[in-house]
Amino acid sequence: MASVSQVSLLKQKLHSAKTALAEVSEQKEQNQNSLLQFIGHLSLACKGQSIELDNKLAKLRHNLIGQDSFEQSLPELVEIEHLLKNQYHHVMGQLEEGRASLSKVIRQLQRVNSVPDKVKKEIAYFKQDLGKPFHTYWDYFPKVERLVSFYESILQQQLEQGDKLEVLPKHRQLAHELAQMISEIEFRKDQRDQVLVIKDSLSDEIEVETLIDAYQTILSLLLENIALEKSASQEFLFALNDALSAVREVVSDSYNSNQRSYQLKKQLNREINSRVDNVGDAIIDIDDINHLKSQVTEQLASIRTALGRKEALEQREQAMLRKSMETMRDELNELSKEANAYKERLFEQQKINLLDSLTQLPNRAALEERMEQEYRNYQRHKHPLWVAVADIDHFKSINDNFGHSTGDKTLQVISMALKNSLRESEFVARYGGEEFVLIIPDVNASDIEHMLNRVREKVKNIPFKFKNQRITVTVSIGAAQILENEQINETFERADAALYKAKHESRDRVIIDN
Ligand code: GH3
Ligand code: MG
Ligand code: MG
Repeated sequence: MASVSQVSLLKQKLHSAKTALAEVSEQKEQNQNSLLQFIGHLSLACKGQSIELDNKLAKLRHNLIGQDSFEQSLPELVEIEHLLKNQYHHVMGQLEEGRASLSKVIRQLQRVNSVPDKVKKEIAYFKQDLGKPFHTYWDYFPKVERLVSFYESILQQQLEQGDKLEVLPKHRQLAHELAQMISEIEFRKDQRDQVLVIKDSLSDEIEVETLIDAYQTILSLLLENIALEKSASQEFLFALNDALSAVREVVSDSYNSNQRSYQLKKQLNREINSRVDNVGDAIIDIDDINHLKSQVTEQLASIRTALGRKEALEQREQAMLRKSMETMRDELNELSKEANAYKERLFEQQKINLLDSLTQLPNRAALEERMEQEYRNYQRHKHPLWVAVADIDHFKSINDNFGHSTGDKTLQVISMALKNSLRESEFVARYGGEEFVLIIPDVNASDIEHMLNRVREKVKNIPFKFKNQRITVTVSIGAAQILENEQINETFERADAALYKAKHESRDRVIIDN
């Protein structure tokens, strides 16, 4: 019986041992399943980093399903562990590369001059921050976002600012040259205040727009100035008009090109903005980290290209502006040269207006001017001053006998003889017809008759030969000295009266009014 109860006890023990074993192995299976599941999920989480690793992990997941132990998969696990280690180094390398390229772009940004100070400071902090290594991609992406936001704010600021053009040393040089040129040009009284304001604006702190304005104003003033000169020749005004419209064209060209580049900048801005949006979308939508990374890199490269294009655009703008400024300066130079030449011509014209065209002696207008001037001198110094009137004797008969053109030539020759018989300080004008007036300062009463007789003799000794006939041409001269309290016209009247006397006293002689 004992044996029956012992067997039954043993049976019982065996049963509970069996149950306990079943429980243990169920527990083990559960743990193993959890581990397998964990490995499966872990391998899924690693997916997308490298194809080789993905394949191995896929195979591992497949093998782990329905397996009792890891033993079979051990060699695979070792290989995967090795790949994972490599992948880790690879990722770290890529992150470092990303960090370096961000630093490069930041340096590029720091070279953009027009960045507002506040953004400049933020960029500097950001650059410092970039000194620390990245540990994960999630360190990297916010930095990209931040960088893009810098671009955005710079572009925004530039667009708001309009197209304020950078002042280059070249522009300061142009301003300096313009100021110089202005001081060499003579402006009308009523223009001087305006010119002064322009001159003041041409300092080293000049803005490009002010410089262009200054050029335009000076050109307009010059044109206005010249248009006012009533005797300006049509031809000259046309030339000036052409020069001015050429300059206007240059200015409007540079304005239009500014408009064009404004449009281009806007387009670039839009492009960069859309890149920013793309980066944002990529971060949100894409699970595949490699895809994401390559997208971000691509966007970054595009942004960099856009920035490069923007820089090139700005350089082109500056070059164009420089060229138009140079053209304008040349035009202005040309114009002021023309204005000077024109003034000289005017002066020449005035001189011509004061000369008698047949004899090239001063004319009556010149005589009046000279008489006034000598009269003023006389009033100041009270030195002796003489007025003499000379008239060719029987001149009509020369015309009558030998023709009018011989008469003309005779007038020319006698005019030269009269002029050459005088000193530098003395003066002779053709008063009209065959009459001449002499103004003689600083000769004493005792010397005047002798002096005028020498003049008379000089004319008489000219060896005229008309139609092979030796002809003597003579002049009669009457002279008077200016008296205290006398107007110079009165002196002239007395000299003319003396000439009348000389004519009546047989001609070819000098009579001094006493
Ligand atoms: P007198 O001795 O009294 O002065 O006699 P005259 O013949 O010189 O004087 P008159 O006044 O009678 O004549 C002046 C002449 O001078 C008349 C005119 O034909 C001539 N004559 C005046 N101007 C010119 C000129 O520009 N060219 C020429 N060829 N002749 C002129
Ligand atoms: Mg006469
Ligand atoms: Mg005469």
